[in-house]
Amino acid sequence: MQDVLIRTIGRTGRITLNRPSALNAITYDMCLAIEAAFEAWRDDPGVVQIVLDAAGDRAFCAGGDIAELYETGTQGNFAYGQKFWADEYRLNAKIFLYPKPVVSFLQGFTMGGGVGIGCHGSHRIVGESSQIAMPECGIGLVPDVGGSLMLALAPGRLGEYLGTTAARMSAGDAILAGFADIYIPQEKWSHVIRQLEEGGTPDLLNVAAETPPEGTLAAHLEYIDQHFAGERLGDILTTLRKDDSDFAQQSLKQISRNSPLSMACTIEMIHRLRGPSLTIAKALDLEYRFTYRAMEHGDFLEGIRAAIIDKDRAPKWQFSDQNVPAAAVSKMLMPLGNDALKLEGTEMEALNVGFIGLGNMGAPMAANLAKAGCVVRGFDTAGTSAEGVQMVASATEAATGADVVLTMLPNGAILRSVAAEILPAMKPGALLLDCSTVDVESARDVAAQAEASKLLFVDAPVSGGIGGAAGGTLTFMAGGTTAAFTKARPLFDIMGQKAVHCGDAGAGQAAKICNNMILGATMIATCEAFALADKLGLDRQKMFDVVSTSSGYSWTMNAYCPAPGVGPQSPADNDYTPGFAAELMLKDLGLSQQAAEAVDADTPMGALAHALYAKFVEDEDGMGKDFSAMLPRFSARGRTS
Ligand code: NAD
Repeated sequence: MQDVLIRTIGRTGRITLNRPSALNAITYDMCLAIEAAFEAWRDDPGVVQIVLDAAGDRAFCAGGDIAELYETGTQGNFAYGQKFWADEYRLNAKIFLYPKPVVSFLQGFTMGGGVGIGCHGSHRIVGESSQIAMPECGIGLVPDVGGSLMLALAPGRLGEYLGTTAARMSAGDAILAGFADIYIPQEKWSHVIRQLEEGGTPDLLNVAAETPPEGTLAAHLEYIDQHFAGERLGDILTTLRKDDSDFAQQSLKQISRNSPLSMACTIEMIHRLRGPSLTIAKALDLEYRFTYRAMEHGDFLEGIRAAIIDKDRAPKWQFSDQNVPAAAVSKMLMPLGNDALKLEGTEMEALNVGFIGLGNMGAPMAANLAKAGCVVRGFDTAGTSAEGVQMVASATEAATGADVVLTMLPNGAILRSVAAEILPAMKPGALLLDCSTVDVESARDVAAQAEASKLLFVDAPVSGGIGGAAGGTLTFMAGGTTAAFTKARPLFDIMGQKAVHCGDAGAGQAAKICNNMILGATMIATCEAFALADKLGLDRQKMFDVVSTSSGYSWTMNAYCPAPGVGPQSPADNDYTPGFAAELMLKDLGLSQQAAEAVDADTPMGALAHALYAKFVEDEDGMGKDFSAMLPRFSARGRTS
């Protein structure tokens, strides 16, 4: 017996899920077969609509067939699951964006993977037995297959409620939440399907439609909004625990079964997705960041073990419910760089980007934008280039006609001169997004000039170094109006993992200057400690092993270790080729001292770090070396030399 029946009847493409004994759970092969049918019918004039249904009374489709994922995952083969999810999500996007009507009949359970097949079409029919849910948090996943989009679009805080509790929706509930469109009593379904097969259009569905029996959600919407509005999972739990109503206690009971990490990520995902820039591609991309890591770093394998394999229903989740660190959530939802989900036909509308300054940071950032589908024209006075970027002859040429002009330049004076050149050439309403690290005053002056030219401006210096630039994991600290920040957001999403709107123009630079004052001082402290350790006869690797997991740990030690051959790859392993050049660190420390002077702040450590880097770059051989080359400098010195 075939698991999925695919045929055309008249001018209707017909797909019937046909594994009733397994509640029509969708396998990889079924996914691929359905996708092939959707593809074949897209441009076939003989097919005007698609009708999806499923065999048996109990389920349209109770989810994805996860046994195989468990088997491969426990053998350390994560690639199988990653490919399964990527291919499944491609199908979900295809159904969502399909140019012809897709009618689905959703009896019984429609859950997880079933929602991805059944709830993205144009006409989603529910009946009296329908029970729709996104129960993924119960097995250590997050609502996926495009479900996060529906949760983000659901009224009020219903999305957070449905995603974390995995509550089941009846027909009326599903229509309220946006998972279904039309209620038709199930006794009419076979007749309606026959009418469609015989040439009827989906309009006939409205004729057969009836008012659904009342669901339970409508009466609880106020409670849901009150309890599920928290910023984090912990906030939601706190308000629920303070309420002894049946609804609150029932919600807590449902939540207590699910993976805290998954629920915390679900909340974060819905918050990130909700808003005007939501697309199916964006939702699937975010879901895939989680599922890509779910086996290795999430609770997925443990969730399946407890629910399906050992059936002990006692999963040992990584975190307790109130105790999911924000860093763990960020780690699961970080962009995947080259491994990101690729969906044909769903690329974001191609943004025209002018990119000025393709140095150590700018080149990989520009390449990531090009890879994500932006049309990027670049210019650099040094004649550098970047993958996928069309190089042009001047900054003005790069800026002309661009929706966004991104600058990644050495300092404020250069930013000012480039801005003076390009602002008159930029099209009205375009955004100048400066990601360089410059002084606050330059950022504010350029912002004022941009505003006078009816242009938007954001100062958004970055943290994360060349590794972050290449991997698309930068953090942006942004200053500017909300409108300007919103326009910059899609670019932040491509190039980074996080963007914080710090305030008005200049606020991003203020945050960056403070961050880098800490960085400069910490690098010096790390380098002098290594030089001292050498003289004390302490092995550098041992020193790393201790400090990187003790109270002396820092980004400079753990992620950018200045000792060659110790810790992760860093410029020290490449003969201190920058990375982040010592002269740029000197510049940033200078900016922090300039700012401290202007506002009368006492910054002795920053001042000393500035003086040391000035000596290193100007009088010693630090120029052109990475800022971590302070280590050989200290190694070569004694207390008085
Ligand atoms: P870089 O020197 O490698 O790149 C700057 C590029 O700008 C160079 O290729 C240069 O030729 C080009 N340029 C200079 N003047 C120009 C002009 N008038 N028109 C066009 N191009 C011009 O420096 P980088 O490391 O890429 O850093 C860029 C900015 O990012 C700096 O402000 C730096 O402080 C900041 N930053 C760097 C790092 C890092 O790790 N490298 C980290 C965070 C922030």
